[in-house]
Amino acid sequence: MVETKKFLSKSRFMDGLSCLKFLWYQVNRKKEIPPFSAELVEIMKQGSVVGEEAHQLFPGGIKVERDWQAEITHERSMKAARERKILFEAGFVSGQTYAISDILVPVGEKSWQLIEVKSSTSVKHEHYDDVAFQKMVLEGAGLDICQCYVLYLNRDYERVGQLEVDKLFKKDEITAEVIELQSEVKAQAEKMLVVMAGSEPEVKIGPRCKNCPLYEKCWAFMPEDNIFLIRGNKKMAFDLMRQGVLDFASIPNNFELTPEQLIQVSAHQTGEPYLNKPELTNFLAKLTYPLYFLDFETIASAIPLYDYTRPYEDIPVQFSLHVQKSAKAKLEHYSFLASGDQDPRPQVLSRLKELLGESGSIIAFFADYEKKCLRFSVRNCPEYNHWFVCLKKRFIDLLVPFKNLWYYHPKQKGSASLKDILPAMTKLSYDNMEIGAGGLARFEYMRVVFGSSDDKKDKDKVFSALEKYCELDTLAMVKIVEALKKLVGSG
Ligand code: SF4
Repeated sequence: MVETKKFLSKSRFMDGLSCLKFLWYQVNRKKEIPPFSAELVEIMKQGSVVGEEAHQLFPGGIKVERDWQAEITHERSMKAARERKILFEAGFVSGQTYAISDILVPVGEKSWQLIEVKSSTSVKHEHYDDVAFQKMVLEGAGLDICQCYVLYLNRDYERVGQLEVDKLFKKDEITAEVIELQSEVKAQAEKMLVVMAGSEPEVKIGPRCKNCPLYEKCWAFMPEDNIFLIRGNKKMAFDLMRQGVLDFASIPNNFELTPEQLIQVSAHQTGEPYLNKPELTNFLAKLTYPLYFLDFETIASAIPLYDYTRPYEDIPVQFSLHVQKSAKAKLEHYSFLASGDQDPRPQVLSRLKELLGESGSIIAFFADYEKKCLRFSVRNCPEYNHWFVCLKKRFIDLLVPFKNLWYYHPKQKGSASLKDILPAMTKLSYDNMEIGAGGLARFEYMRVVFGSSDDKKDKDKVFSALEKYCELDTLAMVKIVEALKKLVGSG
């Protein structure tokens, strides 16, 4: 939906609260903002599905048709408001501000309840700002807002059979908090309107930049090997930056660093990897054959898709398993990818029970996640309870040596993720893969399995890319264990 450039809409106001420079780009140079990531698109899609479900709680409500011109939406909304019906997505203009409200419920002869629907599972501080901005605009347009609420997902709701929308949502009143914010929000909005109309504002980079689409642009002045790669609290890196220190070579000798940070800094300064041989030897000695390298890909839907699932619960839809029965045995590979037409958890459990045997280490990267997926799956299939209790003792987390810096290669660039460790330690990498990250895997699976398209070719192509991606995740672990063994002389 296109809005007239001059308006400060609710989404622009929220952008402006996070960064005035980002707001300015949204208004004046939108084309220079890179497209949203697959993860963000998925979050937005889920947000609109949640919004539609919430409407069911307000029978008789009418949806105001939005126009690309804010003034026309305003006229339609004012007309609908005069009928004193429940309104969905009514949009109002006041001066140069514009807000679309999720739900408006008439109270008495002239007042309204303003209800903001969120796909989160709690009320967050930014929701107060969001609703306070709406209240300011709607009251500026002549509506009387007597109460404000946030409607959000109940994380404890477990679906059994038909979706029970009244149990899926929770509603918190936030009227007092919103009233308290009114004058602040008014001042912020005035400031933002000035920024929007001016030239590009000078804004310093900060912790808020982490997920900003303009990150590459604003951080382009940083050297490739920069102080923000140092693990831990980024406050230290910002302190160094204020002193004019941007790269590892310029860190003063007397600068206080933790033992872990010292390992990293000296690896970057010398270009040599760090190795803690005793710790790595102990870690590798815990691995017992057969070795099972396991990785899940999951989906997490805001609206529970299957019985006995809750909002955002991780459902394993795919796994890859490499098995090495002995040091000299040929590597075996097994995989599973759910078609999506039924709850995949019983199939995942039954297949893994067949494959994982009675003994041997199960190696996963961030093993708590794999154990969590299994624990949730078993909740719906109690016949696997005993099996899972025995199985979880066999897990070994391959993240541990990298999290603890028992091994660190400067090519990891501060990261302890499989995607960065693999090319640092082996000749393999995730480069040039059609699907090369978990977020995209989840997005693509949701798109071809639960989306509206019925394109079989597209689905086959995505499934083939998913198979390759998940297989590389477990092959990566095999290769990393081999490399570690070589390094400590036990390979
Ligand atoms: S990267 Fe940081 S400074 Fe640049 S627009 Fe985003 S939040 Fe603002």
